[in-house]
Amino acid sequence: MSDTVVRFAPSPTGLLHVGNARTALLNFLFARKSGGKFLLRIDDTDSERSKPEYEAAIVEDLKWLGIAHDLFARQSERAEAHRAAAEKLKAAGRLYPCYESALELDRRRQRQIASGRPPVYDRAALNLSAEERAKLGAQGRKAHWRFKLSQSKVKWRDLIRGEVEIDTAHLSDPVLIREDGRFLYTLPSVTDDVDFAISHIIRGEDHVTNTAVQIEIFEALGATVPAFAHHPLLVGAGGEALSKRLGSLSLRLLREDGIEPLAAVSYLAKTGTSDPIVPHTTISELIEGFALEKIGRAPAHFDPAELSNLNAKLLHALPFEAVALRLAAAGIADAAPFWEAVKPNLARFSDVGDLWTLVEGPLAPIVENAPLIAKAAELLPPEPWDEATWTAWTGAVAAATGAKGRALYHPLRLALTGREHGPELKKLLPLIGRARALARLNGEKA
Ligand code: GLU
Repeated sequence: MSDTVVRFAPSPTGLLHVGNARTALLNFLFARKSGGKFLLRIDDTDSERSKPEYEAAIVEDLKWLGIAHDLFARQSERAEAHRAAAEKLKAAGRLYPCYESALELDRRRQRQIASGRPPVYDRAALNLSAEERAKLGAQGRKAHWRFKLSQSKVKWRDLIRGEVEIDTAHLSDPVLIREDGRFLYTLPSVTDDVDFAISHIIRGEDHVTNTAVQIEIFEALGATVPAFAHHPLLVGAGGEALSKRLGSLSLRLLREDGIEPLAAVSYLAKTGTSDPIVPHTTISELIEGFALEKIGRAPAHFDPAELSNLNAKLLHALPFEAVALRLAAAGIADAAPFWEAVKPNLARFSDVGDLWTLVEGPLAPIVENAPLIAKAAELLPPEPWDEATWTAWTGAVAAATGAKGRALYHPLRLALTGREHGPELKKLLPLIGRARALARLNGEKA
């Protein structure tokens, strides 16, 4: 049994977008590859912005992607553990009360910037005597609590970035508890990582600085520090930051656009890695091929057009068994040969509904070359039909009329399907069947 436990820790303050879905996926693939466990942790300590409907949407969207969790936790239900951790830090002298108002802090920052100093918290509150604190308390001032950084170099070997070193002397002591008593993200996160024995933290590189702070907190709590892997963030096709557009890149919208979950995970698992982005028809293939070492240091690209393209390629590669239930649900009979006939023409699965009308009708044929079509109707062979029927039949029509190439095939397609383009007729013809084909060649709606 592997000791690997990873977590994906979204805040339920919005819908999942491709960026956080990628983080979830990398954690999931890592867990499955190593035989470990995947924790879905809902970071809902911000009670103002967290919404149960977002939590439900996160769970549903991950399920849609095929990312199943082994463990589930909600931070809001773990307040006692967070308070205990805070007490431990206070006892160790690493968590201290501060009384500055937001306005005072802001003024101080402005002054620091104006005099060319880095805007780092000056630790004034550390020098308050017990009496001064009591006095501030008596004035009705409520304390917020800061973690006292070691002001030294924190180092770790990041599983993606290699050796990382951050000097916490350049950072402000982070506020862990707000003046209303609520916890900010940092301490609950570390506490839960400790309690769930998280072995690897895999997340975006926007958290690198947080990691230095968190490593100090793990150590101050006397806990084992997990391994870290910070992946580069997704950027648009032209290298632009996606952050502004993330709302339009939610999984919900991809799903509404007809993106298959396997296309989305194939893309998100491979973008930014040394592997090519190709469609994978099962998630096991992705697990098999997963390795953190394959993730590069350069930003990973996300291009909606490329994803649509991959989606089409995935559909073209899907065997009938993978879609049998969905075709049945769409009311499509004789679905196996139909799937083989139409899948190369699909951009999204829902296109099957439209293509099914080519078989089932009724459709209005277009008769462009009446004498040719009349001859073709006359030469229509008896059933049973198979894929060889088309070649034999069109051969006979060519011999009788002298028409060939486009002059032969185009009028036949228009008459049989009422359209300029479509699936291969040698596959479609046996599905249309003789009765309907004949009716269409006779110009009847069928
Ligand atoms: N809730 C945090 C976020 O969404 C979790 C970050 C992390 O520790 O992975 O940014």
